[in-house]
Amino acid sequence: MQDHPLGLFIIPDEHLHERLATASRLGIPTAHILPPDRHSRSAEGLRSFKQALQDAGVEPTVMFCGFEGESYETIPIVRETVGLVPRETRSARLEKAKRISDVAAALEVPVTALHVGFIPDAYDTREYGEIVETVGALADHCAANDQWLHLETGQETVETLLHFLEDLGRPNVAVNFDPANMILYGTGDPIEAVRQIGDLIRSVHCKDATWSSKPRVEWGEEVPLGEGDVGMENFLRALKDVGYVGPLTIEREIVGEQQLRDIEKGVQLLRELRTNVWGE
Ligand code: MG
Repeated sequence: MQDHPLGLFIIPDEHLHERLATASRLGIPTAHILPPDRHSRSAEGLRSFKQALQDAGVEPTVMFCGFEGESYETIPIVRETVGLVPRETRSARLEKAKRISDVAAALEVPVTALHVGFIPDAYDTREYGEIVETVGALADHCAANDQWLHLETGQETVETLLHFLEDLGRPNVAVNFDPANMILYGTGDPIEAVRQIGDLIRSVHCKDATWSSKPRVEWGEEVPLGEGDVGMENFLRALKDVGYVGPLTIEREIVGEQQLRDIEKGVQLLRELRTNVWGE
């Protein structure tokens, strides 16, 4: 695969074929995907999913875990419901994430990824230790499947993320960097963060957002690529400086016609910037 191929975040719901057709039409050769739902995970179901991706000329590079009961409605609700942090659902979700890693393996996707949730920054607490242990168990399961585990940025500061990665101490764990999340959650300057995380960044979301007037309390706003506060050219330049060669995966978290239009504009913008930054 050429360096910095474009990518698209694709959800395999009833609109899967339209999304794949869009990727195909726009010449997008890679995707981050969610797993097909539980009922479509038979050998036959996975074969036809894989075939649909192949027919569209789209190579899945990362599979994301999503869990029932997660809600991104407000920052406090994210804190309570997202990822492997909430204690009540932790062990059940760990098992689900392992099954998703198995689905990724069956589809020959080399990376499983997720939002861990709000990793606590009180490092000497039992809760923090338990979260390290849980994510470590998932990382080991991914390793047995010959996979990487990527943790998506956003809910924690870079300091907490780096501390957590060090405590995990697993060689197959890296970072899916989403610059807009750092702005949406108000956790720090994304460009500076790229430089701090460096070559641990192994996949990215190209997404844009504007800062909230109450960072860390209320959401900023997700906006079309190039219209927010990330500064897409600076973002790509920072990625270049840390030697990033992976896909540039567009994520636009709205639905319908507007999403399509924004994705098309995003593709155009990334192609221009890729030429400016990498000469490709
Ligand atoms: Mg993202």
